[in-house]
Amino acid sequence: MRSTLTIHKAAVEANLKAIKTRLNKGVKTMAVVKSNAYGHGLVEFATCIKDKTDWFCVVRVEEGVQLRENGIQNPILVFEIPTAERVPLYTQYNLTATVADISGFDVLKDGTEYHLNFGTGMKRLGFDASETSSVLEKMSSHSNIKCTGIYTHYANSDSNFDISVATQLARFNAIRAQFPSELMTHTANSGAILYHTDKAVQFDAVRPGISLYGYAPGVVEIPDLQSVIDWTSYIMQIQKVSLGEAVSYGSAWKASEEGWIATVPVGYSDGIPRVIGGDIAVMANGAIFKQVGRITMDYFMFFTKQPLAVGTEVYLFNREELIPDIWAEQTGTITYEIITGINARTPKRYI
Ligand SMILES: *Cc1c(COP(=O)(O)O)cnc(C)c1O
Repeated sequence: MRSTLTIHKAAVEANLKAIKTRLNKGVKTMAVVKSNAYGHGLVEFATCIKDKTDWFCVVRVEEGVQLRENGIQNPILVFEIPTAERVPLYTQYNLTATVADISGFDVLKDGTEYHLNFGTGMKRLGFDASETSSVLEKMSSHSNIKCTGIYTHYANSDSNFDISVATQLARFNAIRAQFPSELMTHTANSGAILYHTDKAVQFDAVRPGISLYGYAPGVVEIPDLQSVIDWTSYIMQIQKVSLGEAVSYGSAWKASEEGWIATVPVGYSDGIPRVIGGDIAVMANGAIFKQVGRITMDYFMFFTKQPLAVGTEVYLFNREELIPDIWAEQTGTITYEIITGINARTPKRYI
């Protein structure tokens, strides 16, 4: 194994607990495990928390199928708009569909359960408020399929930009009031759960994603969340480097002193952003080393004054000083992109 992602189950459970402590009594959790559980391994992650969450949410219907084929029995909500060729999967695998446009009512197979998605400020997927009466008509004319829930999604729960959570919530409440009261209602992503505890965003259930994996959704730190992954590899080769000798493509880095170059078999195809080449810290034998030269497709190198043994374990992430947030900041992106960028082929170990 060139590299391994080790997921600490106790840390995942602690994150789920941190979320639950913020919930009103009786509010259900719908754990968001889209995109390979944010890089943590869809089936493994879901299996780890299946007894501690009520629902799972995925984007792609195939992700729901994969969960079912691996023994997950919790209700599963699929966010994407169902396409004609995939609609049989919803009933076949007992997955809850999302209806977010008028054609959605006609495409679903008899017996499919669905939640309605209303857009209230995100302009991604969802009905517009002006379609409410047509939606109500379709709901009653299509008794072959069953509406069991209604939801919306916040554009700015992590900050306070133009369309605030309060604005979207007011829009949603006005829509919600026109639908049967028994529909399961949910709006809150991690940002809404963690940063908007003062507002009535929780309804019947919440949809935490990034916080489950231990990261704050915005710049405001959440002290009771913790990163759950170690990303480790090993030294594949160690070689002497003399003063002035160049390392990696472009010979962009040259040794300013004598020492050793350790080669680690992880590269940009595994998910290290190439742009931070020359600026990554890694850990081996408890010490921090500086990665040097350009990141290559399958390898990176680091400099060490003293030789280290071939086979020595190398940490790219360690849940303490080496966390994915640092790479996100260095590359001007969000932690979501760093963790979902870890190649899915990376073996996962749950301990
Ligand atoms: C991704 C997603 C979530 C989870 O968002 P986080 O910011 O990761 O908590 C919730 N709801 C919907 C519709 C999503 O697409």
